[in-house]
Amino acid sequence: MSLQQQVDVKTFLLFINGEWTPATHGETFDVSNPATGELVAKVAKATKEDVNKAVTAAREAFELEAWREMKPEQRSKMLLMIAQKIIANAKELVYLDAISSGGTVRRLSNSDVLQTALFFQTLSKFVLEYPYSETLPMPLFPGPAHNFVWREPIGVCAAITPWNMPMLIASWKIAPALAMGNTIVLKPASYTPLSTLKFAEIISEVVPKGVINVVTGSGAEVGESLAAHPDVDKIAFTGSTEVGRKIMSIAAKTVKNTTLELGGKSPNILLDDADLEIAIPGSLFGVFLHSGQLCESGTRLFVPDHMYDTVINLLVKQTSKLKLGNPLDPSTDMGPVISAKQQEKILSYIESAKKEGARVICGGKKETVPGCEGGHFIRPTILADVANDMKVAKEEIFGPVLSVIRYNSVEEAIEMANDTIYGLAAGVWTKDVNKAYDVARKLRAGVVWINDWHLLRPDAPFGGYKQSGIGREMGKHSLDEYTQTKHVHTSMTPELNKRSWYNILFSNSNDELR
Ligand code: NAP
Ligand code: MG
Repeated sequence: MSLQQQVDVKTFLLFINGEWTPATHGETFDVSNPATGELVAKVAKATKEDVNKAVTAAREAFELEAWREMKPEQRSKMLLMIAQKIIANAKELVYLDAISSGGTVRRLSNSDVLQTALFFQTLSKFVLEYPYSETLPMPLFPGPAHNFVWREPIGVCAAITPWNMPMLIASWKIAPALAMGNTIVLKPASYTPLSTLKFAEIISEVVPKGVINVVTGSGAEVGESLAAHPDVDKIAFTGSTEVGRKIMSIAAKTVKNTTLELGGKSPNILLDDADLEIAIPGSLFGVFLHSGQLCESGTRLFVPDHMYDTVINLLVKQTSKLKLGNPLDPSTDMGPVISAKQQEKILSYIESAKKEGARVICGGKKETVPGCEGGHFIRPTILADVANDMKVAKEEIFGPVLSVIRYNSVEEAIEMANDTIYGLAAGVWTKDVNKAYDVARKLRAGVVWINDWHLLRPDAPFGGYKQSGIGREMGKHSLDEYTQTKHVHTSMTPELNKRSWYNILFSNSNDELR
């Protein structure tokens, strides 16, 4: 069955071993549009048995010699073909993410889908230069030997992804897994499984069956079954720190290779020589893109005390121009937040900030968008007089809320910036490059933007310090994360009496051995 037919009937099945497959008990769950509240699809609700089937298919595909022993040139071609197919299907991928994640078509079509294709294309180049085998220098001591380090695929990789950037984050796992000869079972977020299912369709056209499988269903059943499965060799998770901790503890029972991309509370430091003409829209771009639902959003803005009121006024002026609307309308700046539950959670954070003495200087409430009355919209919110130890400055809100915090010295700003359990991203705005690098060195985060925000690139590693994660995605580093090394030693010392190292065990040395 092609996906197009499924879109028409709005029922999506599991993708296991190259086949669209209903869930074992035939159950489905609903996917609705966060901008309207309308039902957009019904999706198969996988069980533990379905997870087992998908893992078995992935294992069998992994054992295929044709897949494991594929030459780098062939893998490169395969990745390039996938990139081309993503571009050919860009419109549909953008649409599927827009109607389920609430991301604007302006962002999805100008950024996410292009970045997704570009990542496959970038890895298609990297695999050609990858050191699959390295020869070590011939040692003279303890005796001559040939030594190689081989890099081999890990095996069956499970990927669990969040709802905020469905296609892009899925690609950060699929592309390096395939590039290095692994097979994959994906569990997309229940709010946004549609583009991942489309990926399975696209990719299955160029890889053997069973190489890519998608099982949709709840985190508690499908996600935990994958994390616990004894035949899953690696788990790559992106999502909240809370769920990441849980996955890590489940995966510990079978000592799985685990990479985690988790939450953030990223600090953004405005120095007093910053060019405000850029720093103000840049800081707002850093926090309000995708309604603040990006892990690397700059949610804590540190402002020098003497500039505080000026900066606040400029922030409010620009924020009031942002237009909330239907994500499918290209004139919309900001879409909804993902759910009614998340909307309530964000509002309760704003209430807690008020109680702790912060001031809501713009936003802070729901908004009704004409034509989207069932949607979950929140006006972009700026909180002034926030202290770094308030709940709103410590916890990840995942919504359009900026906390503006005063500082008196740069050292104090850096100290507050680093005073968090997270370490995903950070930023600094200044005209002085020396100051910028000095601050960048001191910030404990996996990416630091100087006079910008959100600009990730497919050839640069992305990932968190501290409780924002383990491991890196993108860049050459992502290929290492999907391989394991094997050291192979070949002795070149045929004479027993020259193997002096055997004396460590045999005290009477080689005389007795002869
Ligand atoms: P989430 O609630 O942690 O869920 C992420 C994924 O885990 C979903 O597929 C979810 O399935 C699944 N899951 C939930 N409970 C599980 C369990 N007990 N065992 C296994 N899997 C489970 O995160 P989210 O709300 O989707 O996304 C927002 C979070 O992702 C934020 O914290 C954000 O910072 C983080 N994020 C991080 C990065 C990064 O690169 N560091 C990027 C984007 C987002 P269901 O959907 O079925 O619940
Ligand atoms: Mg969640």
